[in-house]
Amino acid sequence: MPTAKLRKVVIDAGHGGKDPGCLGKISKEKDIALAVALEVGALINELQPDVEVIYTRTTDKFVELSERARIANTAMADLFISIHCNANRANYVVGTETYVLGVESNDTNLEVAKRENSVILDEDNYKQNYRGFDPNSPASYILLANYQYAHRNNSLSFASKIEKQFASKQQRKSRGVKQSGFLVLARTAMPSVLIEIGFLSNEEDERYLNTDLGKSFTAASIYRAFRDYKNEIEKK
Ligand SMILES: [Zn+2]
Repeated sequence: MPTAKLRKVVIDAGHGGKDPGCLGKISKEKDIALAVALEVGALINELQPDVEVIYTRTTDKFVELSERARIANTAMADLFISIHCNANRANYVVGTETYVLGVESNDTNLEVAKRENSVILDEDNYKQNYRGFDPNSPASYILLANYQYAHRNNSLSFASKIEKQFASKQQRKSRGVKQSGFLVLARTAMPSVLIEIGFLSNEEDERYLNTDLGKSFTAASIYRAFRDYKNEIEKK
């Protein structure tokens, strides 16, 4: 067996352009996600010079979910990191969650996936591009079951490292590793995670993510998890 190498990573800032993502009182998901994504990429470029960083967007532009996965698959990336912010009707809910693709999700996790998948309704050819996938129909989620199976263990390992960093280094509330039916993860052909870095529906989380320090700590946590994951798979 050749030694596994982590040479290419795709960093995917959620939403963009006409799709703002979820809205807080003072900020939009698309802006926070992009700022943190660029910081994560800068840290990898600086500290892991043998790794190529590929972004799905570096500006405020709309990118279809299928295009995000296509960028990663075409580059034959070794890892896909999608960065998002969360929202909940209950504004007291705080903290971070990292998702891997899974279909046995509970209702709360399904709500997060539905919200993140619903962006395809803004895309021009979504019916053709996603072969009839309906982000609001629970039945559609069962079809995602077979994707990502080969990469499940690596995705879970990386996800748990991210949540561990959030909890230990940042003193933030980690809501843990979860699974749900995220279309963007289903489409990628490599280990992939989707990180919800905090709730814009919560005042405290939103304020934190709107400080330079909060963004930098968040990016540094994701970077350290990336470094540890890279060391782990290259040691095997
Ligand atoms: Zn999002």
